Amino acid sequence: MKRANYHTHTARCKHATGTEREYIEAAIKAGIEVLGFSDHVPQPYKEFVSGIRMDMEQLPEYFETLLALKEEYKDKIAIKIGFEVEYIPQLFEELMGKLRDYPVDYLIMGQHFLDEEVPANYVGRPSQDPCKLEKYVDYVLEGLETGAFSYLAHPDLPNFTGDEVWYEKQMTRLCEGCKALGIPLEINKAGVCENKHYPNENFWKIAAKVGNEVILGYDAHGPQALLEEEIYQMCLLWARGMGIAVNEGFRIG
Ligand SMILES: [Zn+2]
Ligand SMILES: [Zn+2]
Repeated sequence: MKRANYHTHTARCKHATGTEREYIEAAIKAGIEVLGFSDHVPQPYKEFVSGIRMDMEQLPEYFETLLALKEEYKDKIAIKIGFEVEYIPQLFEELMGKLRDYPVDYLIMGQHFLDEEVPANYVGRPSQDPCKLEKYVDYVLEGLETGAFSYLAHPDLPNFTGDEVWYEKQMTRLCEGCKALGIPLEINKAGVCENKHYPNENFWKIAAKVGNEVILGYDAHGPQALLEEEIYQMCLLWARGMGIAVNEGFRIG
């Protein structure tokens, strides 16, 4: 089956490499029929300058570049333009206002931080704090309830090292909430490639039990990531072993 990937970054986020054209050429080679760019959204921070996302001033150029390529490659591949977005309650309305001027095809939620973007708030940092995990689930569900998002990227990003019963309780709440909202969960291929703490087996056992819709996202930070067919297949097999059938037919819009 031809596949789609909606999780692709660009060099604007300051931690990805390659040109958009290289990503597109790699995707075509990989047999991908829909390639969605979802670079880290510029958050409307007041003074803070983020080191892991484009600046607000780069928005017009992001769209100009991708719209031109979308047109150029339209007979070979469908290009979608979106963002990976954290839900920050106090900034969300302003952010949506800024994006309204652009032809945004979709947003995926990637909740990397709770509130301010400082290392202590990174949810992937090992933590035993039950409140931090609970807050993660609160933010994700509140954000998804806005209806702005098409799926949840790496839902298992929290690196919780505390009580297992609490983890199961909170992540069951997350999975049940996503299921009720019709929001698919993403198994993150970059987590596998980079040997990160996710995909987290404990999380995916819960998702399998709840019966969530599950997709596979490349989270490509370089064109080469789109060509790693063996790892892609390994992820599918791994999911099957967990009792999860990845929905490769998932399409946005
Ligand atoms: Zn992410
Ligand atoms: Zn990403």
